[in-house]
Amino acid sequence: MKFGRVALVTATLLILIAVWVGQSLAVIRRAERQVLLMDTFVRVIVHGRLSQAALEKTIDATVNEMARLEGILSAHAVGSDIYRINNAGTERREVSAETLAVLERAALVYEQSRGAFDITVGALMRAWGFGTDTRAVPSPEMLAEALSGVGFEHVEVDSARRSVRLSHPATRLDLGGVAKGYIVDKAVEFLAARGIDYAIVDAGGDVRVLGGHPGQFVWERPRAVRVGVQHPTQRDALIAVVSTHRGAVLTSGDYERYFVEDGVRYTHIVDPRTGQTVRGLSSATIMASEAALADAIATAVMVLGAEEGKALIEAFPDVEGLLITEGGAIVMTDGMAQFTELINR
Ligand code: ADP
Ligand code: MG
Repeated sequence: MKFGRVALVTATLLILIAVWVGQSLAVIRRAERQVLLMDTFVRVIVHGRLSQAALEKTIDATVNEMARLEGILSAHAVGSDIYRINNAGTERREVSAETLAVLERAALVYEQSRGAFDITVGALMRAWGFGTDTRAVPSPEMLAEALSGVGFEHVEVDSARRSVRLSHPATRLDLGGVAKGYIVDKAVEFLAARGIDYAIVDAGGDVRVLGGHPGQFVWERPRAVRVGVQHPTQRDALIAVVSTHRGAVLTSGDYERYFVEDGVRYTHIVDPRTGQTVRGLSSATIMASEAALADAIATAVMVLGAEEGKALIEAFPDVEGLLITEGGAIVMTDGMAQFTELINR
């Protein structure tokens, strides 16, 4: 019968269309971008049920937002909040809400670490030549002069007036130990607010994960994202893999930015109490819900060393750590082991 055949073909077509529409709604698409920001490669990976074009547009906007934040927080960017504060002498300068938010994190870790993490190391970093073309061990006079302005008590924050003042003329701010983490946090929040359910933002190893790594279809359960921890002595090898569905995993190490003079290695983290570059730990890997906090804690732990560093991590709720000493010993907080797979030991 003719009518029956038409009905059958129509029904089949309708079913096919329904399946096709259903599938395309259930498909999770992926977009990825790598850009140079904050002196490092930043990778943004997003997964979502948006169209490919929408995903790409969202990444564009996120990268722009990260660049905007870098322009506010970088001490080197002329006209940034930090640049203006550093060049204001002891006068106050109005700053953005973002700068106040970073200063708040910095103050918290400064207090908890009893000064091991201190963003007033700006002049000290310069004395060692970090951020300049000539890195070298400073003379005792240079060191003493740079140290005179170190101390968070020289930073006066007026939240109501949204302003900051450095009360000592030698004080200079350097957010290098916390701003990258903060910007990674903001990128993830920015993505989440735009309907992205799954994302990985990796700023040169400062990683924050949103939702884990999904499969191709919405009904597949997302996998944990695996974050590698660089082997301290073997180039291009990992010593551990940390797996997580959410939050930050990041590492401060002595092997990325450093110089060697007379056979001694000087790394880019300084002890604000002595002015010397730090020794003792090769790296500190921190897990926390926020990358800003993890970043600052990682830097503080590098200053404090294994024992005091572990105690600092434990003082924060829901923060875990994996520390590797210069001798190659591995020290972990109790909660870290369940996320960590050790390899190449
Ligand atoms: P990265 O991993 O991005 O190289 P870290 O998070 O390890 O950086 O922090 C190192 C940076 O932090 C330095 O380059 C400097 O800008 C800043 N810094 C160095 N020592 C300290 C300190 N004791 N407290 C706060 N910031 C510091
Ligand atoms: Mg840091």
